[in-house]
Parts: sequence; C-alpha cells; structure tokens
Amino acid sequence: MTTPDGFGRSTGVAGVSQPPAGTGYLTSPVPGQAPVPAALAHAAGGPRYWMPAQPDQAARTAPAGPLAAPPTAPVSAPPGGFDVEAVRRDFPQLHREVNGRPLVWLDNGATTLKPRQVVEAVAEHYSMGTSNVHRGAHTLAKQATQIYEEGREEAARLLGTPDAGEIVFVRGTTEAVNLVAQSWGRANLSVGDEILVSAAEHHSNLVPWQLIAKERRARIRPIPLLPDGQLDQDAYRDLLGSRTKLVALTHASNVLGTVPPVAEMTALAHRYGAKVLVDGAQAVSHFPVDVTALDADFYAFSGHKIFAPTGIGVLFGKRELLEAMPPWQGGGNMIDSVSFEETSYAPVPHRLEAGTGHIAGVAGLRAALRYLAGLDRPAATAYEEQLTAYAMGALATVPGLQLIGDAPGKIGVLTFLLAGTDPIALAAALDQQGIAVRAGHHCAQPALAAFGLQSAVRASLALYNTVQDVDALVAALQGLQGVQGLPAAPAG
Ligand code: PMP
Repeated sequence: MTTPDGFGRSTGVAGVSQPPAGTGYLTSPVPGQAPVPAALAHAAGGPRYWMPAQPDQAARTAPAGPLAAPPTAPVSAPPGGFDVEAVRRDFPQLHREVNGRPLVWLDNGATTLKPRQVVEAVAEHYSMGTSNVHRGAHTLAKQATQIYEEGREEAARLLGTPDAGEIVFVRGTTEAVNLVAQSWGRANLSVGDEILVSAAEHHSNLVPWQLIAKERRARIRPIPLLPDGQLDQDAYRDLLGSRTKLVALTHASNVLGTVPPVAEMTALAHRYGAKVLVDGAQAVSHFPVDVTALDADFYAFSGHKIFAPTGIGVLFGKRELLEAMPPWQGGGNMIDSVSFEETSYAPVPHRLEAGTGHIAGVAGLRAALRYLAGLDRPAATAYEEQLTAYAMGALATVPGLQLIGDAPGKIGVLTFLLAGTDPIALAAALDQQGIAVRAGHHCAQPALAAFGLQSAVRASLALYNTVQDVDALVAALQGLQGVQGLPAAPAG
C-alpha cells in the first residue's frame, strides 16, 4: 500500500506502488500487430513504478558553488543504448500519484517534467546565488553573469551554432516569434509582401504574423496539409515567389507530430530571397537540431518543453539579421548610452533583451541542456521513435479510435478521437485513472480544421515514457468504450 502525501507522492518504500493491470498488448501482441521492439524490451521488464533514488544528502545541502564544474552525466546508459529507467529516476514527478493512481504523464507537448538537476539549479540560484547579472562588480553578480552566459553557450551548442551572440533569451517560443515579427517584420515587410505560414503551425507562429501583416499591409498565405499531415510541397513551391519575404515553419507539429523537410524548404525559400523562421518548440526535446545545417534564419524554442523552467526560451537569429534588427523593447540592459538627445544601443544579443532577464530560468535551462547533453541523444531519439511506433500500433487496436496525422518520421504526438466520445470528457475520464493527456484545439485550430475538427485528444511522449505508459493509456481507453456519461463529440 502507498500513503500519498499532500502532493500525491508515494511515501512508502521502493516498489510499493503497483501498476494497474496491463493490456496484454506488451506480452501477447494482438494478431497482426508488431511485437514490442527489441530496444524497448528492457523497459517492459522490471518493476514499473518505484521511488526515485534519494539524492545524496551532502550533494543536496552543500553549497555547490555556482562556478563549480558542470554536473556530470547523470545517466549511465548501457553501451549503445538508452537507459530509460535511469532517466526516470531523475524525474521526481514521475513517481507521484494522481487520483490515487501512479501518474502517467502523456502531456509532454504542453510541458515536460523537470529532472532534479534542474530543480536544484533553480533552488541554488534563489537560495545561494541570487544576484542580478551584467551589473555590479561584486562576486555574486559575476557568478550569476557567468551562469547566465554559460546558459547562452549551452543553447548555442544545442542548436548547433558556434556563436553564442546569436542566442537571444526570451520568455518562450511565443515571445521569440513576436520579437521577430515586431522587429524584423516591421522593418522589412511592406504593402503586398507575402508571409507563407504552414497550416500545421501553433497559433504562436501565426497570430504574430497576422498582427504585423495587418499593420504593414502584407499578406499571409497558408501552406496546405496533405491528408497524412505532411506539408504539401507542390503547393509550397507554387506559393513561393518574388513577393515571399518570410516562411514560418514548424520543425515538429504539436498536433500532428509532422516533421517537415525544413532544410529543403529553407533552401527553396532562400532561392527567392525569403527568410525562414522555424518553430522548434516541439522539436528540440525529441531530436538533435542543427540550425547551421538547416540554414534557418531564425529558430525558436521554449525552455519548459525541454525539461527546463517556464518563462525562459531562446531565439536564434543569424548574426547579420539580428544586427540589422531595430530594438523591439527599450529599457535597461539593451543600451550603450542614453541622453535626452540621443540613445545608442548595446550590441546583440543584449540589444534585444531589455530589462532583467529570467536569471533563475537560465540557470535551470543551463542545467537542463547539460542534462540532455549527458545522455546518448541519438540513442534517446531512436528509443522515442520506437516508442512512437509502438504507441501508434497499440492505439490502433482500440476499437473506434482514429489517429490524426501519420506522416512518416513523426514525433510522438498522438492526437486522436474515440468514436462517440467528447475529447474533453474523455481526457477527464483518463485523468481519473492518473493518465494526463490534453484535449481541445491545442492552439492549432487551422491544423485541426484541415481535418474537419475543432477538438481532439492528444497524448504526447517524451524520452522518459515507456511501453507501460502506452499500455496504461490503451487499457484505459479500452475500458472507457461505451462508458455512460462520456458525452458524444460535438459535430463539426
Ligand atoms: N509552438 C509549438 C509547436 C508549441 O507546441 C507551443 C506550445 N504548445 C508553442 C509554439 C508556444 O510555446 P510557449 O507557449 O512556450 O511560448
């Protein structure tokens, strides 16, 4: 038995929390379905839920010193593999209960959980290292500045640029796109110019363009979707032209999971002199990204979707573009000198970072990116790919379930409808079983509209999910078939 504390954490001893009965999909595959991929087999064995190892007390209380060496790789991956159970032990929230059941976190598209290394880095900043950055000659200001700039370097490494000056800290993807629209867009768009926006975009890579297009009397043109969720490349080629000034593209759709051929699409856009902004919010945690290889002009992501805190994110921009962009917000940190007669500005990236930044957020981002760098990323990506294939096969066994989007190479974003049930009521019923999924329009109404939908359920995977998580979802969905009290989906 477990005794949940006020936060639903199991307070018993290791291994006390029993998993709900499996679906049997794992051990006895449904005829015609693929068996468990070999690389996932280790995740299928062993106990499903257990308490995380308690971090070493000394390590928790000793003032680590902000300038201490970077944390060592937390995961001892088996040779050539990815040790999902070792990773799971680093994420305390995976070991809590919700509604009396072990939490199955399948809402990674909305936000990812945080490893203890990130939680500790944020706590360390506030408990021992609080200081503003870039100002003051005292020791703590220098330490905070060093952590802040190391966070920038980690972000540059993650994105594959050698120049940390191309990394602008923002609140998240939304703010990054608004920054580009308000600064680059206002300076570069004029009457009749065209902005191509894929129909798979999150609202945050569409609405900022609508706002600036209206102001500049430019025009938004959608890149349509194919039935499997891919972007229609023929239509894209036809849309490109001398009026195209910018192409706004997701690197991974938060509702369809589609990963468009961004490098090819960028090369095509560049032939017309257009710039390309890539929304990497859903991409960065799933596969390695290289903005240099993509030749992206701008690339944005949110910290909270890559195991870091909320309120911190990154805009990458090619240096020559950032340097030519006017400030979009004025204030402290972004100036060189100020007088009533004339104000001059700091060099990039600081010119685009007015005011005090989210210093603790950057400390957490630095820890998250170091954590990720300590993993065997190609192996983690391969693991997620196999888990995604497994999940798609398992969900297909649920009678009446319709998956939306099955583009080749998609990430583990599994959006679906269950015949005769309302998505929001279905998500609420799953929550009663401790399974966290999201339902609604997922801030991508045009993408759902392309499939004639207003709302759907989304289960989204991260590298710490397992076949058991998928099995729990599938078992719950099978159990909810025909359950009274789940209203039917609204028409339309
Ligand atoms: N783009 C995509 C693809 C997303 O999934 C999200 C968040 N759901 C965003 C942009 C916006 O991210 P944020 O709210 O962190 O700015």
